[in-house]
Amino acid sequence: MPTLYIVATPIGNLEDITLRAIRILGEVDAILCEDTRVTAKLLQKYTIQKSLISYHSHSKLSKVEKVFELLEEGKDLALVSDAGTPCISDPGVMLVAQVREHFGDTVKIVTVPGPSAVISALAGSGLPSSEFLFLGFLPHKKGRETLFKEIAVSERTVAFYESPHRILKALLSLEKFAPEKKVVIARELTKIYEEFVSGTATELLAHFDAHKDSIRGEFVVLVGQ
Ligand code: SAM
Repeated sequence: MPTLYIVATPIGNLEDITLRAIRILGEVDAILCEDTRVTAKLLQKYTIQKSLISYHSHSKLSKVEKVFELLEEGKDLALVSDAGTPCISDPGVMLVAQVREHFGDTVKIVTVPGPSAVISALAGSGLPSSEFLFLGFLPHKKGRETLFKEIAVSERTVAFYESPHRILKALLSLEKFAPEKKVVIARELTKIYEEFVSGTATELLAHFDAHKDSIRGEFVVLVGQ
């Protein structure tokens, strides 16, 4: 039965990939990926030569049809994203839904688990994590303030993804709506400049004011009690 594998890849350190992921990337007929240059770098490290098909959030219907054709021909495909687990704040959700809908149980969908930034951030944060609320990327405008109000009253740890351009804005909102809460910022996980910084939003704003070179890279924001 043709299979679509959803394969997690590293979030920075290229060694963070499972043996199974390496085997499957080497075995499938083609790999669907976001940025072919990013995936090519990973494949090069593991000396895997494979045909790459770009698939991203703006991919047209014709790309989905191409995927359908390959599966109809009996081909096995792997879906990866630039980093971490596909479909988690990453392209792929629609594709998986469409493949399920179109093929039912005549195509197997198999996940190959591995890194995801939110999970590593939670694990290293020291915040309660047996229950948590993950908000992905917050909206830039509509609904943003409502979400911060919800974060302020949440009894669970809340996690969200943020870009370096908006991290200070997010901290300013937390300072406004949740001034007492403990915030942990997980930055550049698994990379050379990995760091966890924690404190109230006001303390973190002071930290980034004093360490402006740290306002770069990739961030996960966690809000505890
Ligand atoms: N699917 C990915 C996952 O499973 O982690 C998430 C992809 S999402 C497009 C990218 C966001 O994840 C970044 O903007 C950042 O917020 C977070 N992220 C990814 N890699 C990270 C890292 N090494 N350190 C901290 N945050 C990271």
